[in-house]
Amino acid sequence: MNLLAAIGFFFLGVLLGTFLPRFPFLMLSRTRGFNTKFPPHPEPIPLSPHLTQRVLHMRMFYWMSLVVVILPLGLGLASVRWGNAAFGFGLLTSSSWLVFNRLQYFVGGMAPPWTRDMAIQLQILANEAEVSGGCCNWASPYWGVTGVYCVNCKAKLSNMPRPDLGRKRRERRPLGFLYLLFTDGYSILSFFDNIPSSEEE
Ligand SMILES: [Zn+2]
Repeated sequence: MNLLAAIGFFFLGVLLGTFLPRFPFLMLSRTRGFNTKFPPHPEPIPLSPHLTQRVLHMRMFYWMSLVVVILPLGLGLASVRWGNAAFGFGLLTSSSWLVFNRLQYFVGGMAPPWTRDMAIQLQILANEAEVSGGCCNWASPYWGVTGVYCVNCKAKLSNMPRPDLGRKRRERRPLGFLYLLFTDGYSILSFFDNIPSSEEE
């Protein structure tokens, strides 16, 4: 096998090992039937039990990748042992990177894009809007890109930036897909927010 072919197979392995474990979050919720309860991307989403549940589903898809990653890891090991070593090495590189990436949270790294706390906070804000004494009499909180705000009185209720919520993205397919691969579901804003907070420490 010449060098060029080896490099090609390596990157094919990297690509497959990057895509396969992220399959649940990239694909499972993007079909039309899954999103009838939500306005189309990138419009703000009204707070509701549907939204809270969607956050919990995305969180499940996120952690599911640690199970799905067994597939490229196994395939990578088998390829290195018995098949195309460059391909297998590519698979192993990207899938073990994913495992480290997911596990860094447990040693004090960045929280996942979707957390249980996030779902709870959304539900608390939704409940507060239901009872009187919220921001205004006709409170209707929506989750926009930069945070939760009331469309009636324009009050900002939370600064929580909105991660990807599994809706079909506005960008054309390859672009939306690449965007998701690069951000891994995080809101772009959450990357910037981390800079000042780490400087304060
Ligand atoms: Zn209001």
